[in-house]
Amino acid sequence: MELYFIWAQDNLLTIIAVALTLVLIYHYIVERDSGVKLTKRYRNSIFEAQSKVFLNATQYLISGNKDLAIKEFLSAVDINRETIETYFALGGLFRSNGEIEKAISIHRSLIARENISESNRLRALKELALDFDKGGFIDKAVETYKDVLKINRDQHEVIRSLCRIYEDIEDWDHAYQYRLMLSKVAHENQAETISHILVQKAKQYFAKGDLNKCAEDLEEAFRFAPSVSAKILRLKLHLYTGDIEQSKFQLLELLKEHPMYASFIFESLSEKSEKVDPKIQEVYQKRFEILKTYFLELSDDDLLASPSVILSKVRLLKFSGDAETAFELLKQWMSENIKPSDVMKAEYINLLIELDRKDEALSATKELLGNLHHSLTKHFCQACGYNSDGIFWRCPQCHEWETIQFRWKV
Ligand SMILES: [Zn+2]
Repeated sequence: MELYFIWAQDNLLTIIAVALTLVLIYHYIVERDSGVKLTKRYRNSIFEAQSKVFLNATQYLISGNKDLAIKEFLSAVDINRETIETYFALGGLFRSNGEIEKAISIHRSLIARENISESNRLRALKELALDFDKGGFIDKAVETYKDVLKINRDQHEVIRSLCRIYEDIEDWDHAYQYRLMLSKVAHENQAETISHILVQKAKQYFAKGDLNKCAEDLEEAFRFAPSVSAKILRLKLHLYTGDIEQSKFQLLELLKEHPMYASFIFESLSEKSEKVDPKIQEVYQKRFEILKTYFLELSDDDLLASPSVILSKVRLLKFSGDAETAFELLKQWMSENIKPSDVMKAEYINLLIELDRKDEALSATKELLGNLHHSLTKHFCQACGYNSDGIFWRCPQCHEWETIQFRWKV
């Protein structure tokens, strides 16, 4: 199977030459029978010219000169307009074969033709943008996609590509602008995604230490949708500038809605911006400690049933040096839940070791090793299965938003 594939790749031009010849013979036969538009003599001369082109091209192919072969193929467009479809196919094949420069030269030559319809010119321009995009010429791709939109704005595939590029390079201003455009053109609800993009924009202001601008973009994000990332950032901003009671309330709401984000929430809250005024930072740190204590004292039954919430509590306690309380909490939970996950068991063993309870640690380890599942990463994408230890609101692999799933790492 693989061998055939490699052969097909090596002989792409030959395959195309044969296919083109078949297409032209087909046209010749069809047109010979219809015979309305062209006189017989004219048709025959076209066929002869075409045959000559393909004979030349095939000779170049045999001698291994691919560039000259392409040139011969391209000159055939002059002879028969019907073949324009074949040239789009040829350009697409080159692009998918990674021969970007050849694809570009085909599409450029199509755009430059005088005798081409406006719709085909637009199509060639779109193809050219795709060539640049695939080839990694981002600036040229953006420029060409924009040229397409200047001719016709109703191109949701093109707008979608611009969205992807701007999100990739984290230019959130433009990403926002084109998402808005996409929601109008494609008639698709983009509110959740726009909210995420605005949160990314707000985070950039946070990193620069501009809390006011950060709050403005965040407010805008909520206008579109109350995404999880927006709620976490709002909680953080509240700890900086708002009152502590409100922060406690927001934390509780977040945990009730998404208990699996528990540890991530605290990870996010402990990330600092170097640019924020040190005095404000100091106030923040104090409030953050109050919030942690509030979380550790939460005894809501629904919340305590969630392994994520328990593990977050255990790890916060361990981090603050209170392994004893952490152990008691976990032991209690394990006794109430029949099937604790491997991660819970591993955490339990860790605590036993930390408390120097060697015999118990040894027997618990033995039991765990007996039926250990290997978990790979902390997070994965539910849409495409992408694995990562980092947080991704937008999957780097399939570019979907908020498809992240959590699993606890052993
Ligand atoms: Zn994905």
